[in-house]
Amino acid sequence: MLVDSFGRTATDLRVSLTDRCNLRCSYCMPAEGLEWLPKPELLTDDEVVRLVRIGVERLGVTEVRYTGGEPLLRRGLPDLVRRTVELSPRPRVSLTTNAIGLARLAAPLADAGLDRVNVSLDTLDRETFRRLAHRDRLPDVLAGLAAARDAGLLPVKVNAVLMRGVNDHEAVPLLRWCLEQGYRLRFIEQMPLDAQHGWNRDDMITADEILARLGEAFALTPAGSAERGSAPAESFLLDGGPETVGVIGSVTRPFCGACDRVRLTADGQVRNCLFATEESNLRDAMRAGATDDDLADRWSAAVARKRAGHGIDDPTFLQPTRPMSAIGG
Ligand code: SAM
Ligand code: SF4
Repeated sequence: MLVDSFGRTATDLRVSLTDRCNLRCSYCMPAEGLEWLPKPELLTDDEVVRLVRIGVERLGVTEVRYTGGEPLLRRGLPDLVRRTVELSPRPRVSLTTNAIGLARLAAPLADAGLDRVNVSLDTLDRETFRRLAHRDRLPDVLAGLAAARDAGLLPVKVNAVLMRGVNDHEAVPLLRWCLEQGYRLRFIEQMPLDAQHGWNRDDMITADEILARLGEAFALTPAGSAERGSAPAESFLLDGGPETVGVIGSVTRPFCGACDRVRLTADGQVRNCLFATEESNLRDAMRAGATDDDLADRWSAAVARKRAGHGIDDPTFLQPTRPMSAIGG
């Protein structure tokens, strides 16, 4: 098992399949893009499957989420999903995506065994989307979302980051639209993980602020702690339910004490936290001939060193060198 010194067990593995992306969301990447990892440094499909298999068979991983960068840019994704669901015990497999290309890929991914998707969507206004993501791709995202629903990748969850003066007036319209469409919306506080290091705490739209805005249009009641478990979203019933909205207060309401996540970057580094400043290089060990036992030992040791919390409020906090797109959100 992947247990750390505070007694938390990691069972939820986030695997980044690429650091590349076809959007440039300003809270994540600079408009000009980044220097991408060279191909030979990336794990091959066989290497990804081998590490995921070790996680599932030997280390107690029960959830595998493919992410990036934009995971739909990875060629052969349905095959990777198929090989993942064939592992035993079968993990639940999901995808975090901007949905560009999902209109075409949702059905093949569902056929391959994908259980669910989380789609990032911050605005319903085409011009705001273009400004925020530096690409005019809102129609592709909306088509991708609908295709995910039609393919039965349920529940379709939508993740939104609000930015002051950009899309923060859209909290209520976005929620109403998601309810109409049958998508489950979660708002995420913006974290200091952008490559440009432009995050500013005073500018951040906090969970309290989000709840206050939603509270002007809906009666919100906490959906109860059992529902939350180790999931980072606090859930609120809307007008008595059954529909809910999630708020992920990563910064102001950290859930580090219940964190059950571990991450693998596209170049095969284990990260025990989004905000970790050290990584454990499984790729080079694997390429140098490490056995499954060796790799499992290295992985366990990396998780054992996980810190108590992200420490964003600590005066000594340092933003990780890798941006969100290269870590895998
Ligand atoms: N490209 C895919 C997508 O956008 O869903 C997957 C990768 S993206 C890095 C994963 C999630 O991280 C997205 O929901 C995105 O909104 C979120 N994200 C990126 N940068 C963030 C930041 N600085 N603070 C909070 N969430 C962020
Ligand atoms: Fe790309 Fe996702 Fe980052 Fe937006 S949040 S730039 S879609 S990786």
